[in-house]
Amino acid sequence: MRRRPLALAPLLFALPLAVPPRALGVEERDPRAAYDVLAYRLDLALDPEAKRLEGTVALEARALEELALVRLDLSGPFEVTGARLVPEPLSNESSLEGTKLRFRFEDERLDLVLPERAPAGAVVRLAVDYAGEPRARDGFTGFHWSETEDGRPWIATSCQMIGAHSWWPCKASFYHPADKPERVLANLDVPAGLVAVANGRLVGREERGGRALFRWRHDYPLMTYSVALNVGPYVEEHTTLELPGLERPLPVSWWVLPEHAERAAVQFAEVPRLLAVFGEAFGPFPFPDSKFALVETPFWGMEHSTAIAYGSSFPAWLARHGGSDPYASRDALFDYILVHESAHEWWGNAVSAADWRHFWLHEGFASYAEVVFVERTQGREAAERWLATMRPRVGPRARLVPEGPVENSQRAYSNALYDKGALVLETLRWYLADDEAWWRALRRFQAEHRYGSATTDDFRRAVEAESGLDLERFFLEWVLGEGWPKLEGSVRAGRDGIVVDVACGASGATAFHVPLDLVWRSQDGERRERLWLDPGRNRVTLAAGGPVEDLRVVGLERLLGRHEIEVR
Ligand SMILES: [Zn+2]
Repeated sequence: MRRRPLALAPLLFALPLAVPPRALGVEERDPRAAYDVLAYRLDLALDPEAKRLEGTVALEARALEELALVRLDLSGPFEVTGARLVPEPLSNESSLEGTKLRFRFEDERLDLVLPERAPAGAVVRLAVDYAGEPRARDGFTGFHWSETEDGRPWIATSCQMIGAHSWWPCKASFYHPADKPERVLANLDVPAGLVAVANGRLVGREERGGRALFRWRHDYPLMTYSVALNVGPYVEEHTTLELPGLERPLPVSWWVLPEHAERAAVQFAEVPRLLAVFGEAFGPFPFPDSKFALVETPFWGMEHSTAIAYGSSFPAWLARHGGSDPYASRDALFDYILVHESAHEWWGNAVSAADWRHFWLHEGFASYAEVVFVERTQGREAAERWLATMRPRVGPRARLVPEGPVENSQRAYSNALYDKGALVLETLRWYLADDEAWWRALRRFQAEHRYGSATTDDFRRAVEAESGLDLERFFLEWVLGEGWPKLEGSVRAGRDGIVVDVACGASGATAFHVPLDLVWRSQDGERRERLWLDPGRNRVTLAAGGPVEDLRVVGLERLLGRHEIEVR
């Protein structure tokens, strides 16, 4: 993302042209914003013994303005050994030979200098040879050179928190989330006996000279952090599924360690129901020409598109065999990693944040998808129990959308994205009071931005279009605001009607307008009324039209916040 350099613009005008912008403290234009990536190809050879990778990454990009160089991100212990301008369009087997290019690699920036300037609109193809020994930063993030229990190589990547440029040169979505390449190809060369899995569909598999080569091709846009490399002595399971909205059966696969084949068969028996639920709720599975797949990893989980990283405990198998689950609280109602990461195929992978301020469109929506899965498989009461686990985790000053620009995905990350995100979506559904419109709005938002990027405003417009409501104030308070509302007070049936005396407070700086839904029985049968509570104390007497029985306040558990209302 570009920072705002324009505050000094009028001043610049008055100064002699020879003064370079840098001398004025104005940030140089980011050369990575000067092109749009169309495709990447990763040709990587892995040496598990030396824990070293060596390879070539090729890039196809369109110049958005005249280009003198192409700047890529690359961090970590790598050496760049060559760069070329490649004439041939990228396919899994195209030649990456071409004219040698000059390059500079310093400060995590790799500048490839073009032999002559490329005009705006031109497509350039470049290849970079590099090698190095990337490592894991901790048990979750980085390049994992792990081993199975019997000592065989088990390799996986997870880079949302540090960027894909921690293991391959690219225009990293870590800084540039909106530039999703239209496709990613991977040719992975590993010792024979190991299986290499990446995004997309397998288009070639060869063995020669003690090595195995796996060619993968994914013809959909994706963020670079979602590009995955997985290698292990995997056993494979392949099937197909008929799913709502898809013309052809969807290939469904999983790759797990041999010792977990039976666990996977038990756990992943849930996949058809899971994909059917999400397909109905959010729209068709977005990547039917690739696959739906789970790949066992040495870390807990990550939403790698069409190759979901699954490193969890197979809780359904544990439950059958009386084993104890290290993730028991998360897995209480469903396999958390299976459900949450799979939901990211719709929210995060298909529809992605246009900039990291809108990261909650990934995590809040995936967390809300958990609620949807529970509601549709176990019922409303179970869904409410799941929502109730989220509420105490949202701090009084929690914000979903940071106020200022956010430099990268790590800075944007917070737990609030998950729990407050899910609770706000549940609140919005209650606020609409029209479930049909709610589901249409989610499907519209998905359909309008699938394969692209979206902002919080795009989501608001989709919900407004389907509900017919003006949601500006709702979004300002609940989505963009700080913290949550606190209702406190009483509702009672009096001689003249229903007396509402409720204070509408807030945990943080934002004041909220909150709907309060009353239900009672009168002589004409059941009645229902929605009151709008303003910030501060609300004292209202509602004409009830006769004696009031069975007075209740409904839906408080659907609203973000902490609410205590006594009903008499
Ligand atoms: Zn997530």
